[in-house]
Amino acid sequence: MTTSDSTQRILDAVDAGFDAQLAMTRDFVAIPSTRGAEGPCQDMIGDLLRERGYEVDDWHIDVDDLKDLRGYGPIEHDFSRARSVVGSYRPSSNAGKSLILQGHCDVVPTGPLEMWNTPPFSPVIRDGRMYGRGACDMKSGTIGALAALDAIKACGLKPTARIHFQSVIEEESTGVGALSTLQRGYRADACFIPEPTGGMMVRSQVGVIWFRLKVRGHPVHVFEAGAGSNAITAAYHLIQALEKLEAAWNERASSDRHFKALTHPINFNPGIIKGGDWASSVPAWCDVDCRIAILPGWSVTEAQAEIAACVSSAARDHRFLSNNPPQVEWSGFLSEGYELKDSAAPEAAFGKAFSAVYGGTVEDLVFTALTDTRFYGLNYGIPSLCFGASGAAMHGFNEYVDLDSLRKSTKATALFIAEWCGVEKA
Ligand code: ZN
Repeated sequence: MTTSDSTQRILDAVDAGFDAQLAMTRDFVAIPSTRGAEGPCQDMIGDLLRERGYEVDDWHIDVDDLKDLRGYGPIEHDFSRARSVVGSYRPSSNAGKSLILQGHCDVVPTGPLEMWNTPPFSPVIRDGRMYGRGACDMKSGTIGALAALDAIKACGLKPTARIHFQSVIEEESTGVGALSTLQRGYRADACFIPEPTGGMMVRSQVGVIWFRLKVRGHPVHVFEAGAGSNAITAAYHLIQALEKLEAAWNERASSDRHFKALTHPINFNPGIIKGGDWASSVPAWCDVDCRIAILPGWSVTEAQAEIAACVSSAARDHRFLSNNPPQVEWSGFLSEGYELKDSAAPEAAFGKAFSAVYGGTVEDLVFTALTDTRFYGLNYGIPSLCFGASGAAMHGFNEYVDLDSLRKSTKATALFIAEWCGVEKA
């Protein structure tokens, strides 16, 4: 239980430490930790945790350990250097409830650099915002959680429950980083993930499926193009069919108790297209990497079957594809949606923290993207809250986090830790 005196001290300590927090955040954002290149981020987090006296577990992820776990998504790239880092705090007295604080350090690619006003991995602070790839999603949140723990310590207090501070990878493509911490045995009474939710609590979130269409064509010289079959235009035919599936799924979503409030919660995205070898040859191949969402409660297996059926039915109406059916490969996320459940206790603790910082009660967010909370909540019955700062252009150009909102979400995080885990004099 936090007294009003310790509440004020913690809030003041977040303010006092905020410049140091921003300096750490800037260093973290400066690391270009796209998929496969997260190592230096994990090194930095390991060092920060060790400096603070946490017991650090830093291990290489073995995909074979994860393959059979619920929620696993296939890995296609070199995974030999993939690591998870967990810093554990073990209290001298166990009075409160244990907590996992988790952030992902992977970021998505920047896109063409000339579209950024400033280089994505040279973070700058301007007009109360920090700009940089990952500044919003979600490096400021991860460092914010560490700063929240620092603030508690700076007040001469220490938590009275076990805390695991977890830095994971692969949140943006499969989620196997979070899954690896669960496979390793980390558990707690609740999990808190400070993704940038704009000061709202994620109430319900979609699941995501990644797949690749592998389309074949019949290559001929362009002078007799009519005799061939163009794999790139055939891929468009399949994309149009999948847009109809997207529309049908959105129709189905109109009966979901949370998602019915949104007009287009299911988004289908052909995200990568590659194909052809020569401008004067009708292309013989085209690969399209796609993402589509599903809602909480929908089965991943059934959704996969619908996607496959949609593609084969569209192929049957196509002169060349009807005899040369395209393949569908599962290329990443195979994730269920998640609706926050059995979370009254951590939500009550968070509610107090929220009202002390923002006043009033926290609003719900019905989220059309996913977060790692699903692994904790669905697979292991650990209620998993997702709450954090505001910002914009996640996955876009000139991504930024709003610093005032970051200060507030750090305060709410610190008070939540104190309330949930309990604190005593250090
Ligand atoms: Zn994120």
